[in-house]
Amino acid sequence: MARVNEHYLKLKASYLFSEIARRVKAFQAAHPEAKTIRLGIGDVTQPLPPAVIAALHGAVNDMAHAETFRGYGPEPGYEFLAELIAAHDYASRGVKVAVDEIFVSDGAKSDTGNIQEIFSLDSAVALTDPVYPVYLDSNVMAGRAGEVGDDGRYDRVVYLPCVAENGFEPPLPDRPVDLVYLCFPNNPTGAVLSRAALGRWVHWARHHGAVLLYDAAYEAYIRENDVPHSIYEIEGAREVAIEFRSFSKTAGFTGTRCAFTVVPKDLQGHDARGRPVGLNALWLRRQSTKFNGAPYVVQRGAAAVYTDAGKSQVRALVDYYMDNARIIREGLQAAGLTVFGGRNAPYIWVRTPDGLSSWDFFDKLLAEAHVVGTPGSGFGPSGEGYFRLTAFGRRDQTEEAVERIKTRLAL
Ligand code: PLP
Repeated sequence: MARVNEHYLKLKASYLFSEIARRVKAFQAAHPEAKTIRLGIGDVTQPLPPAVIAALHGAVNDMAHAETFRGYGPEPGYEFLAELIAAHDYASRGVKVAVDEIFVSDGAKSDTGNIQEIFSLDSAVALTDPVYPVYLDSNVMAGRAGEVGDDGRYDRVVYLPCVAENGFEPPLPDRPVDLVYLCFPNNPTGAVLSRAALGRWVHWARHHGAVLLYDAAYEAYIRENDVPHSIYEIEGAREVAIEFRSFSKTAGFTGTRCAFTVVPKDLQGHDARGRPVGLNALWLRRQSTKFNGAPYVVQRGAAAVYTDAGKSQVRALVDYYMDNARIIREGLQAAGLTVFGGRNAPYIWVRTPDGLSSWDFFDKLLAEAHVVGTPGSGFGPSGEGYFRLTAFGRRDQTEEAVERIKTRLAL
């Protein structure tokens, strides 16, 4: 008899996006004339930059000839891409990351979900709340989260509330923790950490022997100078942090799939007897065993992001979404709503008016403005009373949605 991994049964039903779909479908059935606009899901809408398209075509041609054909590639990624990443994402900011510390992959979702495998099942995990759900669910599946209580929280997870009252900056854990997931710029709140704030985290991790799992998938959206793009801009971070990056939201790779993770050689965990173990070697072993590398064609496409043309096209893409973010932020403020984020991130985090719950505001926005967003409570208990809109829509739809919110929402 094949018994299942019962930790999977402890996962909360992933009802957020299915419940959104259900409510939108019911609304559309009752109001077939209404044109709903979706600013809910975090997927991009603009096509890949021309430089990437040209590189993809070129790489497809490579695959058509025996002399240039590629089969299995190196599991951690081709050096041609890792060298560009090391030079453009890190050396250009004064950060030293070696090529063999970079692991190219098919997505930051896989990497942030899989990274927990190289840590002990006894590890105590801390998460920001609200949070990108993959960090929590992957630890629930592994059996590290414990049981869910009546308050919706898992009893072995340390939740770090990020709310307006603390400027959406997670408090340092008040009890021993081994792993901390941090994501900045943040999905869903759109908040960033200043250099000083990130410095406090690195200092805390060094002092407590913890590892920081730093998701910087949205670093390209940072506009302010005092906000680090990489955790390795903070002195001492190489000994305490793993960093995740993605081409998804930067260069439109959500459907093309390419990302990378940096595991510095200076970073060590410990075995049961307290002896140090290099995490770079463990992650290499994990990836070499369970992953056969991102496709050659896709890695060639990602490499084109670092050409002069690619860089300016990516900048234009990010600017496009950040203009959407400004339009949403300013429009909602003009409508009398309190909004956060949207300055260094493609997410606008709205406080629901009049103490409405996240789901009540979802229904109100859908009924009155025919606009679909995401209830904040779907990202964790501290997201209750908030609502997420994304800047990834088309410009005309974003403008139309904001106009409707300004003119039709009864506040
Ligand atoms: N990390 C965060 C915080 C995200 O919001 C997302 C996607 O929404 C990802 C990672 C996943 O990125 P990828 O497309 O590279 O898997």
